[in-house]
Amino acid sequence: MSKLREECGLFGVFGAPEAATPIYRGLFSIQHRGQEGAGIVVSDGVKVRSVKGLGLVNEVVARHPIDELKGDRGIGHVRYSTTGSSRIQNVQPLVVECVDGIWAIAHNGNLVNARKLRRMYQEAGAIFQTSTDSEVLVHLLADPLYRTRPQRVARALNELEGAFAFLMMTKDCIMATRDAFGFRPLSIGRIGGGWAVASETCALVQAGATYERDVEPGELIVIDANGLHSSVFRENESGHLAQCVFELVYFARPDSRVFGYNVHNVRCAYGMKLAEEHPVEADIVVPVPDSGNSAAIGFSQRSGIPLNAGFIRNHYVGRTFIMPDADDRANGVDMKLAVLPDVVNQKRIVIVDDSIVRGTTMRKRIELLRAAGASEIHVRISCPPTMFPCVYGIDFPTTEELIAGKRDVEAIRSFLGADSLGYLSQEGLLSPFSDPRNFCCACFTGKYPVDPAGMKGKRALENSSLELGLHP
Ligand code: AMP
Repeated sequence: MSKLREECGLFGVFGAPEAATPIYRGLFSIQHRGQEGAGIVVSDGVKVRSVKGLGLVNEVVARHPIDELKGDRGIGHVRYSTTGSSRIQNVQPLVVECVDGIWAIAHNGNLVNARKLRRMYQEAGAIFQTSTDSEVLVHLLADPLYRTRPQRVARALNELEGAFAFLMMTKDCIMATRDAFGFRPLSIGRIGGGWAVASETCALVQAGATYERDVEPGELIVIDANGLHSSVFRENESGHLAQCVFELVYFARPDSRVFGYNVHNVRCAYGMKLAEEHPVEADIVVPVPDSGNSAAIGFSQRSGIPLNAGFIRNHYVGRTFIMPDADDRANGVDMKLAVLPDVVNQKRIVIVDDSIVRGTTMRKRIELLRAAGASEIHVRISCPPTMFPCVYGIDFPTTEELIAGKRDVEAIRSFLGADSLGYLSQEGLLSPFSDPRNFCCACFTGKYPVDPAGMKGKRALENSSLELGLHP
């Protein structure tokens, strides 16, 4: 059974004493971006030390204390595989020794030309240690073609196609960069006299940093003892960005500011639009916690239908999708949410969630509500039907597995067992943004801003005959 979903989170620090502590706090705050493995790499300018492991960041740190990670600079990563399976070799940051010293690299996103580059290096004799797409950057950086030239990092980055936010570290500096379309978010903050970089602004806040600005698409930032230096490694010739709208729909934490927008506010606005586009007579609005919370608030405010808690979430069960084994996921659905029968009994309910992917979780929730006596169930989803897979780092299944891939809204409603089903329109999805052309909506429209040719699923880079040892 193939492993399931998710992407990654990055956090880096330069010039903050005991950098491992803010990195740990930062990663802990973006744990929702990946729960399969975590790593922290720190340098004091002389030595580079790291801890890495499978599991949540606090589990990894409990097994490998970070007190030994001395230094004022470092980078960290939380991951769930979008390419590559869950094994220790794939846990980032990747740490390698090149001819000019140690490099650490952490990646969020998906490179659509990784397979081609990997093949090229393998044919030239290179050996790959992981099955992640991120490792091709290591080989580009070590390539004498780039190594001997000025602006080697910029040149190496220019070879990459697809979605990336990277943090890199040498003993002297950390670097932060986003691809020229800006698919994935990355923000910079100040921490004491130093700097912090994070996938989401919530992590900056929780690590004790203050938000300064976003890393610009196509920008390469180098932070060293002389401060922050910015350069452009690639101009965006298309004239528009392709920022991932699904970060705002589902992925990012509501207290983050992503691509210049407050995530909670955008989701509330989606809920309001949804209430306008698909009004319904009902007694209560029930959010699916936590993914539907913000949109349900907006729906309730605009419709005037009171919000109530129809479900209680057990916080000790991980996000169902992040459970690497499909059977666990099925069990997780039951364990995660419990209905409040006294709230829903004999009520007409609007249930609000952010998205439907395979449809299995919503179907179960509707069963639970019916069993608890709900008289009508109206499903409202704060994004359009998810019809196409993502090749840029959000882990959706194939079109066949996506419930909206092959079925229309009426067929989905009937599969779910709902009385009505309404999705947010594409116009509604883009309505909060000053320039909607700057967003990638490929999962809803099938229009892929960067040619996805060469991407064949998350295990595209795995050689089935190669099974590297799995360490606990
Ligand atoms: P399902 O329709 O059963 O596949 O599950 C849909 C639920 O998963 C929604 O409530 C979303 O909140 C959540 N979800 C949507 N996309 C993802 C993703 N890429 N990774 C993890 N969870 C997701």
